[in-house]
Amino acid sequence: MERRRTIALIAHDSKKDDMVAFAAAHAGVLADHRIVSTGTTGGLVLAACPKLDVMRVKSGPLGGDQQIGALIATGDVDMVIFFVDPLTPLPHDVDVKALMRLAIVYDIPMALNQATAEVLLRR
Ligand code: PGA
Repeated sequence: MERRRTIALIAHDSKKDDMVAFAAAHAGVLADHRIVSTGTTGGLVLAACPKLDVMRVKSGPLGGDQQIGALIATGDVDMVIFFVDPLTPLPHDVDVKALMRLAIVYDIPMALNQATAEVLLRR
């Protein structure tokens, strides 16, 4: 990715370790961009990679996913990397769906697993 972009990082609880490892492995690339992240995910990523420029919004179940959706709608998020837990029913499933819908509406690249995220960061 050539210019500085804003990348949203979100991970459900069972995927947070994976997200921290992913952010640490790609810290060199992520450092060239702005990160926006849901509360808990962002805190863990920042603890592992303190040099990253991370803006934290609310925790996902408390509206953080929707805040990131609003940032997509205002053109302030360029890419979403969301490590979703596919095996656990979550109270904020509808927020995940809403976020996906906005990513489609605004044609924002959105990775829902690590394999896709790796491809997106290589662009
Ligand atoms: P969290 O939110 O990073 O605050 O846990 C993520 C989510 O569950 O959507």
